Amino acid sequence: MAQLEIKSLTKSFGDTRVIKGVDLRVEDRDFCVFLGPSGCGKSTLLRLIAGLESVTSGQILLDGQDITEAPSAKRNLAMVFQSYALYPHMSIRQNMSFALDLAKVDKKVINEKVTRAARILELEPLLDRKPAALSGGQRQRVAIGRAIVREPRIFLFDEPLSNLDAALRMQMRLELARLHQDLKATMIYVTHDQVEAMTLANKVVIFNGGHIEQSGPPQELYRRPVNKFVASFLGMPQ
Ligand code: ADP
Ligand code: MG
Repeated sequence: MAQLEIKSLTKSFGDTRVIKGVDLRVEDRDFCVFLGPSGCGKSTLLRLIAGLESVTSGQILLDGQDITEAPSAKRNLAMVFQSYALYPHMSIRQNMSFALDLAKVDKKVINEKVTRAARILELEPLLDRKPAALSGGQRQRVAIGRAIVREPRIFLFDEPLSNLDAALRMQMRLELARLHQDLKATMIYVTHDQVEAMTLANKVVIFNGGHIEQSGPPQELYRRPVNKFVASFLGMPQ
């Protein structure tokens, strides 16, 4: 059984169909990257999986359970946004523990989880600062730390590195790859950057105009692109 299974999924905003029938399986511990041009529906698909948008038709199954109608908070998925979305008035520690505080998790347990995540992400010396006192890269680490403490079944990343400069992006890519190994987690990662996709993913899903053009391991897509769009999007000579 796939950990996440998406069946014939569609999404319309008014009369505009944005997701046009998507079928997809994500296995436990996959690093699955959605790659495609701007406006093709990647964020919308991620938001449907997270339960931040309602589905128009089709099904989403998590561990075989139908979660199509389940509220976001019940899905045990954690989303990391491009904009970090940190609370400016709270310390880094408070930002990281907020979701667990709301869920009334024991204070001692929260403290342990936050300390562990801060250690993994090298944020320990910064825990008492406010977000404004951190660099872009450090803020993005806090956003990731906030997801880690929730120990989600699947991490959902929406272009998390696109606000960082090239050098930092490279470093964060390596950190994400290490995190994926250390946490033994499943990750679904949206980007329009093919280098990012090819270095991080064991499964790449090429998206275009609300549907999947091709999916598979990076090597396979390079070896056998199914059409011109895939070939040109991967930067291959025509
Ligand atoms: P991507 O993340 O691949 O850049 P999006 O999923 O953000 O693409 O958007 C796909 C399409 O859906 C775009 O044409 C966008 O304008 C449209 N769209 C996204 N969210 C909404 C919304 N809440 N209402 C109306 N249209 C939307
Ligand atoms: Mg997007």
